[in-house]
Amino acid sequence: MTNLLDMDLELNDDEMHLYSRQILLDGWDIEAQEKLKLANVLIVGCGGIGCTSAELLARAGVGKITLIDADTIEISNLQRQIAYVEENIGFYKSEILAKRLKQINPHIRIESYTSKLDQNNAEQLISTQDLVLDGCDNFTTRYLVNQMCTQLNVALISASAIGFQGQLFMVEGDSACYECLFPKEEHANESLRCADSGVLATTPNVMASLQAHHALLYLGLAQTPLKQKLLLWDGLSMKQRLLAFEKDPDCSVCQAR
Ligand SMILES: [Zn+2]
Repeated sequence: MTNLLDMDLELNDDEMHLYSRQILLDGWDIEAQEKLKLANVLIVGCGGIGCTSAELLARAGVGKITLIDADTIEISNLQRQIAYVEENIGFYKSEILAKRLKQINPHIRIESYTSKLDQNNAEQLISTQDLVLDGCDNFTTRYLVNQMCTQLNVALISASAIGFQGQLFMVEGDSACYECLFPKEEHANESLRCADSGVLATTPNVMASLQAHHALLYLGLAQTPLKQKLLLWDGLSMKQRLLAFEKDPDCSVCQAR
């Protein structure tokens, strides 16, 4: 949890107005909103998924958002990465997104990193979080994030989108992890990325909205509807399926904890 000394726990009048439609909700009270304010969330990847989930969390009132992405903005990103405009081309994604989040909500704290998440910085970045949202575009980072979150017991909600299809799942507490579901030996050499395979503008934004929605349920209400479940969304049939999956008794990541 956040260092309580350097911020007010309670919502001030401006914040009460800003979040009034949420606080009005049945089942979402001031206490849930204050939990959001105290939450620390790391967003891995500021592409099609990270742009949207970060913006939704900022608007909803998550108190501290940390962004990490080493990429700069290219023209082909603008079709789906909603935080960026043409004049941002060539600038770091994490810095432009951080600036936008500050404009959207001045009551929250934003930190951004222009490096890649790797073995050297992963533990330090993840250990201070309440939740990690993974929206990266490669398996190496995805496996590393899963491994660190599992080891450090930090909740993870991972989203991916390719073509017309998306996936979403949560790793939390004693649940099965990403490697239980997709063993590394079978997937390590795959490089299914939007850059190679194409993606419709809406697909990552649908998945990011579901990811951010689940993040709010978890942070505000301690709900985990996708724990140990894989959500599959098909953007052509518009069908959504939930598959339960089990812990792999031989998993080298979560069984080693
Ligand atoms: Zn596992």
